[in-house]
Amino acid sequence: MTGTNGHGFGERAAEADRTDPLAEHRAAFLDPPGGDVVAYFDGNSLGRPLAATRERLAHLVEGAWGTRLIRSWDEGWLAEPTRLGDRIGRAVLGAAAGQTVVGDSTSVLLYKWLRAAVAARPGRTTIVVDPADFPTDRFVAEGVARELGLRLVPVGAGDDGAVALDGVAAVLDQDSAVVLLSHVAFRSAQVADVAGITAAAHRAGALTLWDLSHSAGVVPLQLDRWGVDLAVGCTYKYLNGGPGAPAFGYVRHDLVDALRQPIEGWMGTADPFAMGEPYSPAADIRRFVSGTPPIIAMAATEDMLDVIERAGLPAIRRKSEALTAFVVDYFDAEFAPLGVRLASPRDAARRGGHVTLDHPAFRQVVAALWRRGVIPDFRPPDGLRIGLSPLSTSFAELHTGLTAVREELVAALG
Ligand SMILES: *Cc1c(COP(=O)(O)O)cnc(C)c1O
Repeated sequence: MTGTNGHGFGERAAEADRTDPLAEHRAAFLDPPGGDVVAYFDGNSLGRPLAATRERLAHLVEGAWGTRLIRSWDEGWLAEPTRLGDRIGRAVLGAAAGQTVVGDSTSVLLYKWLRAAVAARPGRTTIVVDPADFPTDRFVAEGVARELGLRLVPVGAGDDGAVALDGVAAVLDQDSAVVLLSHVAFRSAQVADVAGITAAAHRAGALTLWDLSHSAGVVPLQLDRWGVDLAVGCTYKYLNGGPGAPAFGYVRHDLVDALRQPIEGWMGTADPFAMGEPYSPAADIRRFVSGTPPIIAMAATEDMLDVIERAGLPAIRRKSEALTAFVVDYFDAEFAPLGVRLASPRDAARRGGHVTLDHPAFRQVVAALWRRGVIPDFRPPDGLRIGLSPLSTSFAELHTGLTAVREELVAALG
């Protein structure tokens, strides 16, 4: 139908890059010689490293670890889970200090947070879940339900497949202990109404636990203002903390004291080095820490927080919307005629930072794309997910990648 520059997308990309107020930040990301990636569409799964991170890690090995050695625990390391937590809270979550900690994986924090929440609602017997949520969220909920003899109640999807306030409100009752949902859906990128759903849960006497893995760092959050009870999320996606970087967890200030988490390790006690008995949890958010903080694994997120604070989340969100709108327009012009379906919302306000397209040939297409340095995700059964990290992605890169997707799809369709 059209060539590489059909419908003027190449020109539109060039113009968008020229007028992009965040363009300067791309130079802060590491661009190693010999890199073969021409379009990175997985910034929502593993963010790119910043150049500053290489220096930071070398400095950490030589300085605090290599030189100061064990003295570094007293010289700052012990406070890292709460210091970094407060910083993430301020820069990304809309959370005042004293409510956020960093440590463990998102899966482990989900378990700890869900167990603590369920225990705070004795006598209630159900956990409200989204059957289309990320697997680990569903698996952890299933495990907790089995362990405690609770029942999972699935939220019915709305007309457009999204978790909607009506659907959640319809299943809430006096048995509901906790509502566990994702803010931005990992597959479709649909954005849930956190404030509305949280208020509905509270009217039923339930607590909410939000997974922010796909929104933290790309969609502005106001946890304090929204009245959220509990939240967890990844730091290696839009927060570029690196592979396996530990998760953050948020507990609303008035719940910190009231909740008891299930992995009562020494690092969550009032005085870890008293080495005493019995277990006596710290009075503050540190009680949610279980073991020794992963100092090296926490370090890189700091660099992305520097960039996020400089750029500002509202501007990051504006570019994110422009990037995903580019994909939707390209879809209308180039992919829809080939039988591709749009699996993400058209309305930018209801869409997170990625776009998923469905076509039965995409498993094969994604494999071909990876071979040529174009890196989207494949999400079964037939989804090609385009994750766009606004601080590291240019419109030209997006256009290059979409053109490659189209070429490989045309080739696959023979
Ligand atoms: C990425 C992601 C996770 C990952 O959990 P890990 O324990 O870090 O592997 C969990 N939940 C959601 C919604 C995610 O997007």
